[in-house]
Amino acid sequence: MPLSKAAADIPLVPAGLDRAAHHRRDPAWLDAAFNSDRARVLMMREGQILVEGSAPASAPAQIGAPLPPGRPVLWLGSQAGMLSPKATRIFLGETVKGSPVFALEMPTSFSLDSSPIAGLGVFDDFRAAASAFDAFNGGCAATARAIFEWHRRHGFCPNCGARTKIVEAGWKRVCEDCAAEHFPRVDPVAIMLAVRGDKCLLGRQKAWRPGFWSCLAGFVEPGETIEQAAAREIFEDAGVRCTTKADYLFCQPWPFPSSLMIGMILEADGEEITVDESELETARWFTREETASMMAGTNPDAFPPMHFAIAHHVIKAWLERG
Ligand SMILES: [Zn+2]
Repeated sequence: MPLSKAAADIPLVPAGLDRAAHHRRDPAWLDAAFNSDRARVLMMREGQILVEGSAPASAPAQIGAPLPPGRPVLWLGSQAGMLSPKATRIFLGETVKGSPVFALEMPTSFSLDSSPIAGLGVFDDFRAAASAFDAFNGGCAATARAIFEWHRRHGFCPNCGARTKIVEAGWKRVCEDCAAEHFPRVDPVAIMLAVRGDKCLLGRQKAWRPGFWSCLAGFVEPGETIEQAAAREIFEDAGVRCTTKADYLFCQPWPFPSSLMIGMILEADGEEITVDESELETARWFTREETASMMAGTNPDAFPPMHFAIAHHVIKAWLERG
């Protein structure tokens, strides 16, 4: 399904990959595809991604801190399958030209330095690297990270406690004892801008970079709609009621570890703020002018969410509404 232009501009929203799910249950096809000279393979280890270059890995950034220049994904071929017998392989899909795309999760013990691909790439912090990813690379990398993080946390059956094993090219786990089937989880998160007239509500957490502001956000709970979750979170965190209007904008897969960030704008009923200090350090209303200068990088006291994050695009969408 085609994406709107605004949605297609958001980092990590995938493009150019057909998931080709009908191949997931065909081990012979998957093996042949992986071993073909058309295979494209990306590699991860403990949540980090293999990227081009030899510089040391970036440290995870403080939220709101400027990110280093991104680095492109280092794509390997089927020879990647010989690097470790303990690697976990998942099938991501096919490119528009029909090349099969896989991801490998290397065991913690895997050392690049003593491997045949030493010097070609480095495992880097995902967020730090990702600003260089285009939609194809970002989509593949985010999908792989979310699936591998799910596998890492779901080695045992929530139903009976026995071991589970990977089936269907990485897209399912099955309990070896009770046969319960388990599927990769996606956790919906409402991330929203409450607005009133010519002002928008932003908040910040204590651990964030000083001067950094962002949209409020929170997990959707069982039994509520995304609009209700957004209104509830704004009220819980900042004491502001939003009961009249909620507009869905776009969403973003966010593999830390398995969120789907759902961007919205809500009309607030009033301006009085009561901050829940267990959630936020503070929250306040920003005028349109303040917000525009913050987004333009000309506000010396306030810094906006990075381009990589959907919050940036939610704020931008509100400014563009005029
Ligand atoms: Zn079980």
